[in-house]
Parts: sequence; C-alpha cells; structure tokens
Amino acid sequence: MPRPDTAPPPLDADDQRRYARHLLLPEVGAAGQRRLKGARVLLVGVGGLGSPAALYLAAAGIGHLTVVDPDVVDASNLQRQVLHGTAAVGRPKVESARDRLADLNPGVRVDGRAVRLDRGNALELVAAHDVVVDGTDSFPARYLVNDACVAAGRPNVHGSVFRFDGQASVFAAPGGPCYRCLHPAPPPPGTVPACGEAGVLGVLPGLIGLVQATEVVKLVLGIGEPLVGRLLVVDALGMRFRELRIPRDPACPACGAGAARGLLAEVAEVAAPPGPGPGPGPGPGPGPGPAAIAEIDARTLAARLARGEPIELVDVRELHEWNAGRLAGARHAPLSAFGAFVGSFDPSREVVVYCRSGVRSLDAAGQLLAAGVLRVSSLAGGLRRWAAEIDPGIRVG
Ligand SMILES: [Zn+2]
Repeated sequence: MPRPDTAPPPLDADDQRRYARHLLLPEVGAAGQRRLKGARVLLVGVGGLGSPAALYLAAAGIGHLTVVDPDVVDASNLQRQVLHGTAAVGRPKVESARDRLADLNPGVRVDGRAVRLDRGNALELVAAHDVVVDGTDSFPARYLVNDACVAAGRPNVHGSVFRFDGQASVFAAPGGPCYRCLHPAPPPPGTVPACGEAGVLGVLPGLIGLVQATEVVKLVLGIGEPLVGRLLVVDALGMRFRELRIPRDPACPACGAGAARGLLAEVAEVAAPPGPGPGPGPGPGPGPGPAAIAEIDARTLAARLARGEPIELVDVRELHEWNAGRLAGARHAPLSAFGAFVGSFDPSREVVVYCRSGVRSLDAAGQLLAAGVLRVSSLAGGLRRWAAEIDPGIRVG
C-alpha cells in the first residue's frame, strides 16, 4: 500500500539499471519503483506458494521482505518450492530463502524468522508490514493470517492449492471481504487432507504464487483492479480460470458487525497503536498515523450503507462545517475535542470516520485504533470526494 507518512527512498544508479523495464512503464516509473523500494511485505511460508512469490517480489524490488517459516528444506519440497535448491536440503527454509534472494537482488532486505506464526506473534508481524502474502498450507495458519490482517487492517493476499486446483484472492482490503466471509470457520481437523497427503501438481503453486506476487505489486503501486471481492479459481487440468464473486458477509465472525472483539481477542490483545513498526515518532498527527489506517472509498461506503450494513459514521469536522451539511446518520465528534469522545465508542462496531478531505479523519481513526476500536477506516478524500462521486448536493463546509 502506498505509505503517505514517509517519502519513498530514492533510486540509485544500480536501481536505474536493474529496474529499467519497470521505469519504462508509465504505471510504474520512478515514483512507483520508489514505492516498491519503500514497501514492506510479509511472506507467511516460503514453500510452494511463497517460493515463486518471494523470488518475483525480490526481483521486482520490494525493499523489505520478511519470511516466516519454521521448517527445514526437505528433498520432497523441491518438486515445487523453487526458491530452495538441492544443496539446501536440511537447512532452515528462511536461511535458504535469504541466501537465494540476496543473490537475486542484493538491494532487498530479507529478514528470516524461523518460527511458526502463532497467536503470540501474528498481529505484531502483520502490523509491521504493508501487505501480507498467505503461503501457508494449514487451516489454522490460514485463519490466523486472516484474523490478524483484519485486526491490523492489512491486505491478505491469499493463495491455496490442492491437487490440480488453485485459488487466489485479496482479503481484508478496505471495504472488501475477508477469508472468513467465504469460509466462516475451519473444517474439523482431519476432514480435508492437506497437500502432503493428497498431492499437488508441482507447477500449480507456481501459477498461484505468481498471481499473489502480481497482486502485491499492484497493491503497493496502487494500480489496476485488485482481486478484492473476487475469488480466482484455477483448474490446471482443464486450464480454465474462473472468477467467483465474494460478497462481504455482514455476519462474518472476523470482519462482520459485532464480531471483531470476541473472535480476535486473542490476537488483538497485542494490538499495535497507529504507526506500528519502525515508523517515526509517537502521538497523533500527520506523522505516524496514516500508515496503519485503512481507508474506504466513497463508492464502497455508499454501496455498503445502501445495503443497510451497520456502520457507525463519525464526522470529525468542526461545528460550523457540521452545521453546513453532513452524511445522514452521522455522529459528530470534532477532531479538536476528539479525545473526549474516544472512550464512548463500542469497540465491536465498525466505524467510518470522515472529514472534509480525508486528512483529519486519518488522525481520528488512528486515535480510535489505539483505543481498541479495530474496525475503523477513514473515508478517502473525505466529503469532497463524496460530493464528487456520490452526492453533488451535499455541502462540504
Ligand atoms: Zn469477513
């Protein structure tokens, strides 16, 4: 995701050469390449899906990759886990990954964590990155990645493979569904065989992992149409790509109304304040806040409100602006006195904060997030965007 709080790092002469084919694309260019260089991507699992994703993300110039995987390379992995070589058999996968990626692109920082993602580390790891690639191969891990992404407001670039079939989608993006909207709860243990028992065609995770890498690059660049609300289903034997629409489920146990607190309590206890990770300075304001705050666009918000979804709208403009015109059903909590309102929010409800142009609302949303209101987003572009796209009659103050 674009990170408005810090300027992306500059490109040096090596970068200019290495990324020349990117720089030729108007949709990427120097500005986009700098954004890739400034991006932090978490890869959960560097097996069949994570291998091709890691290779191409490093090659594309994603500046900081963190790979999490507790396993060692096994000879039976090499049929599909192309990041690792025969000489790496027996080594921790994160070490093998780090060596290969450093050779591929020394400009990329690769952090390896030879641990299993668990409830103790998931939220912290997810919140310290901009985008998450789910390369896990077990249901508990997949649900944990999803729930942490929902809690931290980070897109979950999902992929899964089974025999000759694969799936990919982008979950937990602002306004979009999450994995639990599709599958509310894991299947009972033992009812669905894993790859290790059922087999998988070796090239298939390559195909799906590269769909995931493509989505990551698009999300970071902010280009194209992300795979949000759509499940790509690949049948490798028929070589058919289909797409299923996934609506957001208002009753979803992870991202639906009134659900967040109960389900996510375990991971949410270590919820990071706004501006997590190595970002600059504390406190609200234009500095650290925006990185952690999800934004919702006017059209998505309008559509969701029209469907009657239970969203608490909060107007953080000052009184004279509020008096001039506001969204129907909104509550007024001006930013100048926002601290007095923070404690009055129900943390289980979804909140959308808006202001005139979408800057003050990021600040307010950051304060809510820090107070434990996890499902909060800011209306991108504020009421001005709303007036331009949804309701030209509204007076924005
Ligand atoms: Zn959901």
